[in-house]
This record gives sequence, C-alpha cells and structure tokens, in this order.
Amino acid sequence: MQQSHQEIEELKQDTLTDPLTGFYNRRGFELFLNDLISNKTYFAVVVLDIDYFKKINDRHGHDMGDVVLTKVAGFIRESFREQDICCRVGGEEFIILAPVKEISHATKIAERLRHKLASTYLLEVGIVTASLGIAHWPLTSSDIKEVLKQADTNLYQAKHLGRNRVVTGEKSAQL
Ligand code: GH3
Ligand code: MG
Ligand code: MG
Repeated sequence: MQQSHQEIEELKQDTLTDPLTGFYNRRGFELFLNDLISNKTYFAVVVLDIDYFKKINDRHGHDMGDVVLTKVAGFIRESFREQDICCRVGGEEFIILAPVKEISHATKIAERLRHKLASTYLLEVGIVTASLGIAHWPLTSSDIKEVLKQADTNLYQAKHLGRNRVVTGEKSAQL
C-alpha cells in the first residue's frame, strides 16, 4: 500500500515534468500558475527563447541541441531563486514564474542570466544567446491571459530589436 502510494506520487510528478531538463512541463506550468493566482501571490512571468536555435541544431546536430537545452536550463536554475518555478513549455522556450512584488526584481535576475549566457562558451557550440520578455501579475494586468500575451509581445520585441536582450512590461504597465 505504502509502495503504491509512493509510485502514484512519482507518476503524478512525472506527468508534470520535462524529462530532458527536469523543469516543469506545460501541465506543471498551468498548475502552478493557477495556484499562484488563487493564493493572490504577485509574480513576474519571464519568457525565455533561445536565439537561432534552429541553426544550432542544423550545425551541430539535434543531440547537441538537446545538450544546449540542458545547459541553458542549468543557467536558468542557477540564476533564479529556489522559490521560482522554472518550466520548459515548448521546444526551446522556457517560462519562469517568479514571485516578486516589482517587475524590476525579475528584470535584474533576467538581465544577469542573459549576460552570463552571452559570455560563456558552451562546448563546441560556442556562444548561445537568448531573448527574454517579462510581464507581471497583476501589475501588467489582472487578467492572466493579458499578462502572458504581454510577456510574449515583449519577447517578440526583444527578437525584433536584435535578440540577446530583455524587454520588460514596465513601460506598458504604466500606460
Ligand atoms: P529565433 O531566434 O527567432 O528564436 O529563431 P530559432 O531558430 O530559435 O526559432 P525557430 O522557432 O525557427 O526554431 C526552433 C527550433 O527548435 C526548431 C526545432 O527543430 C528545434 N527544437 C524544438 N524542440 C527541440 C528539442 O527538444 N530538441 C532539439 N534539439 N531541438 C528542438
Ligand atoms: Mg521558439
Ligand atoms: Mg528560438
């Protein structure tokens, strides 16, 4: 009985995590997102997308692409705090839910991470960069859908401005 209970818990955990990075998957992401909102915990949404990842796969192979994904995940884990929820929600897209009262706190962490990544050689792949978009619940909007949309818009803007940068929702939150 004890054994099967533990197995069920492990299975539950497996359905919430991504086997490559150990981060939460989309299902885990949604679970924690709902949890934060129902507890009325303020948090920043940090969306990170690796720059030109397709080229990395094309040049070095899919397996090396996977190694890069795990390395980037390691950088994310090291940069954020214990209580921040790290998720891999798409191929090379990550979302971090960071309980902070002000966007600037998340921006500082994101900027440090971006800089660390951009100044480290990853094996034979060399320099890998990422673009990040940030928004905040409820400072950006009390509607979480709008918050996620704004974080994505900011990420898109970071790509458009030339990649390897962080765009925050701070200005749009004041409009
Ligand atoms: P951008 O700078 O605009 O983000 O360009 P990009 O090349 O990173 O973006 P794009 O969306 O064109 O390519 C993402 C690539 O990620 C395409 C796909 O082959 C690759 N990919 C998705 N999931 C995985 C995975 O689990 N492992 C590996 N190795 N590659 C993956
Ligand atoms: Mg992408
Ligand atoms: Mg990309």
